[in-house]
Amino acid sequence: MTSPPPAKRDADFIFHELTRSICPDCKAVIDAQIIIRNNKVYMRKRCPAHGWFEGIISSDAEMYVGSVRFNKPGTIPLDFSTEVKNGCPLDCGLCPEHKQHICLALIEVNTACNLNCPVCFANAGIGYSLTLAQVESMLDRFVEIEGDPEVIQFSGGEPTIHPQLPEMIQAAKDRGIRQVMINTNGVRLARDDRFLAQMAALDPVVYFQFDGLREETYLAIRGEPLLDIKMLALARLADAGLSAVLVAAIERNVNTDEVGAIVEFGLRHPAVRGVVFQPVTHVGRHIPFDPMTRVTIPDVIHGIVDQTAGRFVLEDFVPVPCCFPTCQVNSYLFVDGDTVTPLPRLLDIDRYLDYITNRAIPQLPNAADVQQALEGLWSASAVAGTEHTAGQFECACGPGLDLPQDLNHLKDHVFQIAIKDFLDAYTFNVKQVMKCCVGILTPDGRAIPFCAYNSVGYREQIREQLTMEQGRQKITAISNQGKAPA
Ligand code: SF4
Ligand code: SF4
Ligand code: SF4
Repeated sequence: MTSPPPAKRDADFIFHELTRSICPDCKAVIDAQIIIRNNKVYMRKRCPAHGWFEGIISSDAEMYVGSVRFNKPGTIPLDFSTEVKNGCPLDCGLCPEHKQHICLALIEVNTACNLNCPVCFANAGIGYSLTLAQVESMLDRFVEIEGDPEVIQFSGGEPTIHPQLPEMIQAAKDRGIRQVMINTNGVRLARDDRFLAQMAALDPVVYFQFDGLREETYLAIRGEPLLDIKMLALARLADAGLSAVLVAAIERNVNTDEVGAIVEFGLRHPAVRGVVFQPVTHVGRHIPFDPMTRVTIPDVIHGIVDQTAGRFVLEDFVPVPCCFPTCQVNSYLFVDGDTVTPLPRLLDIDRYLDYITNRAIPQLPNAADVQQALEGLWSASAVAGTEHTAGQFECACGPGLDLPQDLNHLKDHVFQIAIKDFLDAYTFNVKQVMKCCVGILTPDGRAIPFCAYNSVGYREQIREQLTMEQGRQKITAISNQGKAPA
């Protein structure tokens, strides 16, 4: 008698799709599977040299799969800076295979910082400091490739300790770039009156590192107690009439329980026009983490909903269609004293921003204008605290709310919440970087998608090259000092 064949068993996951990623050990470009298990989404991949890796990319499969319909056709930039040679992500960029233009460009003006955070994707420290001439030529190239550039963000290191930051901001304004931002830890803004006055005159939006309201959070993420200095800097920004967007790095077991309090704090603070949550990106310097339990976008959304006493519902958060829609979600609120009205309660945003399943936009007289306004708001180029964003909010709202007519007044009532999940070596997905709309400008004229810059090795290459060039220039200058003029 033959024994029955062994019973087949089902896999404990759904195979969702195949993409390309990198090996977390050697950065080789390898195939990657996206799988769904227990309503969570994971990336699973095998490097021939280093074996299998798995990491979570979304803690809510329904949200992840549902976001795909919020995917808008990209806009081709006016020029590309590299050729297609080795394939994505090794040809950045932008190469002609890229699927989106740059909505938001960053210039990292230096690598030095006045803090030494244990969590720092830029791995700030010794390196280079760009000259004003270098920054001017990068801005010129940005204008060439974009025509009408939307947003430039000066970052670092810590850009506020660069002695020529004010001139760099002015150079961006002189080129007609619509919005200039500075990305800062706030230390110099808290301590330096002259610098604060310079910023008040130039009026950039301040992208302000603010990880929570507990000192232990700062000790864990920034390595020192910073709460007082953050509060002082924000109070001084309010006095100076500058707008700030709080930028919170969120790490598991550190501050996931503070996301609601950060939103509530931002809503009440006179300088704050928005909050950006960024699950900690495990590149550069970071504290030990488990790729299977890292924080993802749905963790932050659920946290906000659960921690704000009924102020928000999950549907208030909508994927951003200009980049790949799993990269970012946004919400907008109209704030009038204690009354907070999320924009998605006033109109059916799905009907305007769902590009796959529902292309019939409502048959209303101003539907095309509303769609354009929503596309502007649900974009990486939307900057809270500006008249431009207030104007788009007003257009999208239509008569649904009794809004102040004056945009300068309205901008103080429009509040943005954004959640951005930058990619690391465990989550890197070429599908996302190919449609990335956030680019790091480099002095050789490239614009490298932000997550490729951080994860693939571009950051290290460019930092080494710029640091060596600067070292050589210093040696030449010193040796020339000793020579008599010819
Ligand atoms: S990320 Fe974009 S620019 Fe970079 S290689 Fe891929 S397609 Fe080209
Ligand atoms: S995270 Fe920002 S503030 Fe901290 S060391 Fe890095 S650049 Fe400096
Ligand atoms: S920076 Fe990263 S997360 Fe943001 S749009 Fe680009 S690929 Fe997506």
